[in-house]
Amino acid sequence: MLFADVVLPLPLAESFTYAVPVEMQGKIGVGFRVIVPFGRRKFYTAVVLKLHHNPPKGIEVKEIHSLTDSHPVVNEQQIRLWEWVSFYYLSPLGDVYKAALPSMMKPQDLEERYKSRTETYIRLNTGIHDVDRLTGRAKKQAGLYQALKRLFSEEGIERIPLREVAPKTGYSNTVLKGLTEKKIVIKYSEEVSRIDRQTVLLSRKAFTLNDYQKKALEEVNSCFEEKNVCLLHGVTSSGKTEIYIHLIEEQLNQGKQTLYLVPEIALTTQLTCRLQAVFGDKLGIYHSKINDNERTEIWQKMVSGSPYEIVIGVRSSLFLPFRRLGLVIVDEEHETSYKQQEPAPRYHARDTAIVLAQIYRAKTLLGSATPSIETFYNAKTGKYGFVTLEKRFEEIELPFVSLENTRELRRTKKMKTLLAPGLIEKINTALESGEQVILFRNRRGFAPMLECKLCGWTPKCSRCDVSLAYHKNSRELKCHYCNKAYKPASECPVCHEKSIEPVGMGTEKLEEEVTQLFPGIAVARMDTDTTRGKHSYQKIISDFQNRKVQILVGTQMLAKGLDFDNVGIVGIIAADGLLNHPDFRSHERGFQLMLQAAGRAGRKSRQGEVVIQTADPEQPIYRYLQANDYESFYHSQLAERKLFNYPPFKRLISVVIKHRDEQKAESGAEFFARLLKQSLGEMVLGPNKPLISRIQRYHIRHILLKLDNQLSPAKIRQFIKSVESRFRENPDFKYMGTYYDVDVMG
Ligand code: ADP
Ligand code: ZN
Ligand code: ZN
Repeated sequence: MLFADVVLPLPLAESFTYAVPVEMQGKIGVGFRVIVPFGRRKFYTAVVLKLHHNPPKGIEVKEIHSLTDSHPVVNEQQIRLWEWVSFYYLSPLGDVYKAALPSMMKPQDLEERYKSRTETYIRLNTGIHDVDRLTGRAKKQAGLYQALKRLFSEEGIERIPLREVAPKTGYSNTVLKGLTEKKIVIKYSEEVSRIDRQTVLLSRKAFTLNDYQKKALEEVNSCFEEKNVCLLHGVTSSGKTEIYIHLIEEQLNQGKQTLYLVPEIALTTQLTCRLQAVFGDKLGIYHSKINDNERTEIWQKMVSGSPYEIVIGVRSSLFLPFRRLGLVIVDEEHETSYKQQEPAPRYHARDTAIVLAQIYRAKTLLGSATPSIETFYNAKTGKYGFVTLEKRFEEIELPFVSLENTRELRRTKKMKTLLAPGLIEKINTALESGEQVILFRNRRGFAPMLECKLCGWTPKCSRCDVSLAYHKNSRELKCHYCNKAYKPASECPVCHEKSIEPVGMGTEKLEEEVTQLFPGIAVARMDTDTTRGKHSYQKIISDFQNRKVQILVGTQMLAKGLDFDNVGIVGIIAADGLLNHPDFRSHERGFQLMLQAAGRAGRKSRQGEVVIQTADPEQPIYRYLQANDYESFYHSQLAERKLFNYPPFKRLISVVIKHRDEQKAESGAEFFARLLKQSLGEMVLGPNKPLISRIQRYHIRHILLKLDNQLSPAKIRQFIKSVESRFRENPDFKYMGTYYDVDVMG
């Protein structure tokens, strides 16, 4: 008897064993899809993980219903990656499988399946020489024939899609039918791609690198001789992307594939066009706005005889079936959006990329102008290789950063709008000399906070060093980590004014004010509201690039990976709001964002200028920004992380408890936390009620663990699973919903 262990697309931790029917033996293998019965009269598409001869004990084994594939669609390396993700992120294997495969590749019962798309074409039959005789008195047929001949020679083509014949020639399909019946015209169908590719007008070779880039490239390569991971820390516009292009070429020459990971937001046409210009059809693009049919098509191409050699994609592209992966590039490695939030598996794409590369014996290059504290720490301590590029390409100077003290301006009643008078003046000068302007304003709607309108002071938790969130209903300030509640003060402890108010204004208001301040100037806004449509993001960017728009107002979406050449001024409105988020990464994020935003200024022609509006200009972070001193910033952050027990010194895991009954969720969380505290004591924070404490009729509670980072993932898993099983021994909590967020971002 032959048995198959398979994974089902359900949130289940285990694999399930089925018997392989005799007629399937010899045809089935690891990585094949099969249809299996599960539960009551339900059928699912499962993937074979293992074939063996050990009959499972004590249960009735069902048979596999049918075999979907004639070749594997998942390879062994991928299965190992799924198992690692499931193990490390404490997520059911079934959830990993679900996230990895496009949904059309795993239909249930009667669900829609993937169908390739075909197009019908017509061409002229070159073997026919007596067309005149054949058309005879059918004048229209002769006319259509001539029209097609003309069209083909004018456009230099040999065929057209059937659906274009009538609109392009003016003759009906009945006339065409006459020609096809006489075999003058041949009709045929062909499989076509669903993926629309941008037409790249200029193809080019990779640029010759300048001396700094050459040196960096050599250093990266020599790092890879000893280490599997290397950080390339290069200021914005230093030419990192060109270095990646050279590395990809080296992989191509060795017959190896490259995965180029980018955060959602950075996957712009600018970048994909640049890569397509060099790599053409060897490049596949995998992002979140492509639909499931297109995703499936890419997947099928990856397992075909001619897979993409290079894939640029967002985090889920990690799960594509690579064969000869040689290099993974993680661009903008610091981006927190690399962490999957909802649903499970809650994996970090950068960290998973490193594991993926290890499985294939490939290398990982992490690139950033503002590395995450964790990565920089790993580079500094020698775990990763480390290469820097300090000069901008063509040695254009980094922008000049100045501050506007809004506290002082408010006190002296000079702040009449959201923009400081100094900034308004600079914008006017820039506009007069034909330059463009970018203004950032971060939206913080989801986590309202209190702030002193005069001095920018915000209340913080004494234990966790994070800003407190304002819970409107209960009129309380709460720490999102330890749940300690504070009464909001009405008077500011710094300036002793009764000037404390909730904050949280968005970009819309800013756009409105800017439009009024600069009459006759074209203003556009870019944020999640204005970029919902498939092409709206591109349109805003191209309007700005083509200088149809002079002032662009937006959120952090604007800071990433865009390359404009005419921006004289970048303004950061209310920088304090970036730094006072209720999470421990707020300074890291704020610094990164401001430095990235600054990078948009004056890239090609001249030194740009950045104006930061803040009520707290003494904050040391601004000095580091002005000096472009990432290193000192890093040391200051590291000291705080150490003091308050955050990564890279501790590993954070959030335990989430949910139940429809609030009382049950509450008592379940209390009990779980008590069990954890028996061995971890102080390193267990909470349970706490998150700001959004009810999701889809479930009440949510969080418990935060700060674990020793020396503990192995296996130990951590063992510990948590044993606590969970003790938790479930209590009959009240046997079926309580729980999940984990390993390496929770904030
Ligand atoms: P980064 O990725 O570090 O922000 P880019 O690779 O985008 O930097 O380089 C910045 C600009 O300089 C781009 O417009 C790029 O085309 C140009 N550039 C970089 N390196 C070269 C080179 N070796 N030759 C010509 N142009 C280059
Ligand atoms: Zn104050
Ligand atoms: Zn706290």
